Amino acid sequence: MASSHNTIESFYKAIAEGKLVAGKCRVCNKLLVPPRPLCPHCYSSNFEEVVLKGKGKLLSYTIIHVAPPQFRAMAPYTVGIVELEEGPRILGVIHSPSGRPLKIGQEMTVSFDTNVHPTWPKWPRYFFKPAEDVDSKSWTS
Ligand SMILES: [Zn+2]
Repeated sequence: MASSHNTIESFYKAIAEGKLVAGKCRVCNKLLVPPRPLCPHCYSSNFEEVVLKGKGKLLSYTIIHVAPPQFRAMAPYTVGIVELEEGPRILGVIHSPSGRPLKIGQEMTVSFDTNVHPTWPKWPRYFFKPAEDVDSKSWTS
């Protein structure tokens, strides 16, 4: 039986608490981010929830100029793929509070935006920013 941990709801619930979590397959040890009810590698539904460090390297990014309606107020914005230290690759919005150009391979740190834009889904969001910018107080100012 699948545990209640490995659902998209539990993923966003953890984000609301400032945690990035993965579902770790107890059969093949693969980490799934976000957690899924079924392991795509071995079809197991036996997971444990693990908290990730939220650090990784920027693999690629793209600037979104034409956004879907719910993100239109944000455009243009940057979306990138970050390879986490634990291995999984995760898609996320990238903020560069310093305004410095992003570099492929640079260290990124996850941050959490619990002050969600009203037109967004109610779930709190995570995003990434360059590790060198982690001291910046806010990406909105
Ligand atoms: Zn598995």
